[in-house]
Amino acid sequence: MAAYKRRGRVPSRMRLADATWTDADGVDTDLAVLPVGSTEQHGPHAPLGTDHITAHAVAAAGADAYSDGEVIVAPPITVGVSAEHRQFTGTLWVAPDTFRATVRDVVGSLASHGWDRVVVVNGHGGNTAALGEVCATITRQDDAYAVPFTWFDAVGDHSSDMGHAGPLETAFLRHTDPELIREDRVQAAAEDGADAWGKWVSHANLAADAAAFTDNGVVGDPRAGDADRGAALLDAATESLCALLAAVADRDTTAPLPHR
Ligand SMILES: [Zn+2]
Repeated sequence: MAAYKRRGRVPSRMRLADATWTDADGVDTDLAVLPVGSTEQHGPHAPLGTDHITAHAVAAAGADAYSDGEVIVAPPITVGVSAEHRQFTGTLWVAPDTFRATVRDVVGSLASHGWDRVVVVNGHGGNTAALGEVCATITRQDDAYAVPFTWFDAVGDHSSDMGHAGPLETAFLRHTDPELIREDRVQAAAEDGADAWGKWVSHANLAADAAAFTDNGVVGDPRAGDADRGAALLDAATESLCALLAAVADRDTTAPLPHR
């Protein structure tokens, strides 16, 4: 696709956290990406920061690969809607209301500088419902246009293997941050993990918390995610995000009028 460029070209991203305000002042774009994730258990082998580390990596790679202009990369929101992991030590969480309010305020502050088309790049499944709601609210009520993007839903056939601290997240980090995967614990992580998320009867999930169905926090087999698969995942997520950025850049954001 036209908007997607391969590695090796001049970066088109600006990481706000690394930039000075005077550098930021010189950026001529209305596009931004805001990574959101969580700080929550990811089994005995992967870090608590997995979901915001992966979201940030996808956001930066997508912004870098976008070829039709500059893209602001906001610093990640690192605590999300993760109460479902609260029994596991180190997990942090905020209420969905708090998460929605934080995303709305951060998007509002991006928009105040003219970066008012925002793709919120999400790395945590528990954020998805609240994120969809707040992006719709922003688009309807605020002076900004916001779209949610959950990277592991946009990686083709891989998506069905998601699990939790399973093949996809383990593969991703083995590619981008291999020092963060405790390789000597992966075998036990797989053997002691669960096969599926939740306890299901009649399409209803009986479990509110992950601890009800996984002893070590893992769902799926992390052995099925090597670094090559991680590279393929990052490529696929990057290409999906690039296509979305192009669509968001071109979008007529005029609100539809009521029929009467
Ligand atoms: Zn995760």
